[in-house]
Amino acid sequence: MKKGIVYLAGGGCGDPGLLTVRAKEKLENCDTVVYDALVNPEFLDYVPEEAERIYVGKRAKSHALPQPDINKLLVKLGSEGRNVVRLKGGDPYVFGRGGEEGEALYDAGVAFEVIPGITSVIGGLAYAGIPITHRDCVASFQVVTGHRQDDAEDLDWPVLAASKGTIVFLMGMKNLGRITQNLMANGMDPEKPAAVVYRASDPRQRVVTGTLRTIEAIATEAKMTAPSLIVVGDVVTKREKLRFFDNKPFFGKHFVVTRSRAQASSTMAKIRELGGSALMYPTIKIELVASEVDKLKTAIDHIGDYTHIIFTSVNGVNIFYDVLRQTGRDSRALGGLYVTAIGKQTAKALEERGVMADFVPKNYIGEALIETLRPILTEKDAILLPRSENARPVVAEALSEICRLDEIKIYRTVREDAADFDMKGLLEARQVDVITFTSSTTVKYFVEKLGAENLDLLSGVMCASIGPMTSQMMRESGIPVSVEAEVYTIDGLLSAIEKNL
Ligand code: SAH
Repeated sequence: MKKGIVYLAGGGCGDPGLLTVRAKEKLENCDTVVYDALVNPEFLDYVPEEAERIYVGKRAKSHALPQPDINKLLVKLGSEGRNVVRLKGGDPYVFGRGGEEGEALYDAGVAFEVIPGITSVIGGLAYAGIPITHRDCVASFQVVTGHRQDDAEDLDWPVLAASKGTIVFLMGMKNLGRITQNLMANGMDPEKPAAVVYRASDPRQRVVTGTLRTIEAIATEAKMTAPSLIVVGDVVTKREKLRFFDNKPFFGKHFVVTRSRAQASSTMAKIRELGGSALMYPTIKIELVASEVDKLKTAIDHIGDYTHIIFTSVNGVNIFYDVLRQTGRDSRALGGLYVTAIGKQTAKALEERGVMADFVPKNYIGEALIETLRPILTEKDAILLPRSENARPVVAEALSEICRLDEIKIYRTVREDAADFDMKGLLEARQVDVITFTSSTTVKYFVEKLGAENLDLLSGVMCASIGPMTSQMMRESGIPVSVEAEVYTIDGLLSAIEKNL
């Protein structure tokens, strides 16, 4: 039988970018993942679809699986020859009970390895702008469980209170008052800076600062709960200059991106880079028009008859190349043609296939394309225009007045009905700050999916449009246009949002 192995892996403290390369690689190759509550759910996307996912953390009402049962589960899976990742928040050995699990595996003769993670103690504090040490003020730090006061075995308060280094308490929120009082009662300066950091490195991060004397009242007032770090020490004052995360332009803002699944992820990545959280609510998807495929194949067979080819979108490029490949050809087929790409992204999609577009109109509206090509076209030219069935007729009409134009409506945009979450519920709970609209079709299908009768729920939400066509459709559909991009790109849209947020 195949020998099993268990990787005791840390998932970092929240930001999905803080997973180690090694943990990701093991997740991608495991057949079972056993994970807890503090682990970022996005990591499960790395796990192969057919792998088993076992959640052992707390559920709404019931408790987490008790530790001895987790140990038994890991031993059982390992003994069955499974390739297991046991994924934990932060680092597995920092109050993560990784040691107990490793010992149980050792005792049972199951192989294991440890993959350290970025602990909240250091990485989480860094995201709050607090360096755990600093030459100006401290040369040591202590990491303490704030949980222990319930146990008979108490912490050594006189030693902690006399400590000159930074002290970080984990799992201490229920005992915050007791912690601060014990430190003061044992002689620590009540004016010592202190902070509470909730969900560090996550879009929900919140930080409050004060002193040993004031921090409990401040944290209570701000309704700080677990999971939080409690920090006591002069390093807290460094946050003023070293903050970099919770002061980003979109920090704390919840975005909904309405593009197609394929296009949404790059937009979402940009939003996250600016500190926002983003959910994908796909309203459209791209579909090949099967009946037009033969027409395109015939055009490709006679590609030498054309002098120009125009690509109007990344989808158009992708689909054209799918068909091109079916005819047994590659980019060389375009060798004798002038290539026009509407939009930088379209040009980039061509470049990835080794084709540098000859013309890239500055603007994304069809009229700009006409302006670019009109001066160079003569009646002897012939244009191949593979594009969407939904496209506006202006371009084709204007160009066909000059020369021959074969427009092939090779794909269409249809409504995407699948949804990962309940949009109406989210709006009712007022958990959406910004919705981005990047085409008139996304607007149309968004309204159909949400229901025109529910558009009132958008009041107070920033509805952002990528350009005039999209805005017009929004107005016609009853969606207020809160901002419109000056440059009709995703970056343009995001910078318009930033100015108005
Ligand atoms: N192994 C983890 C700690 C597990 S103990 C690590 O290395 O980070 C759980 C406690 O860790 C929580 O009660 C809280 O005090 C702290 N914690 C973990 N992640 C946190 C985060 N993102 N923000 C604030 N505190 C966090």
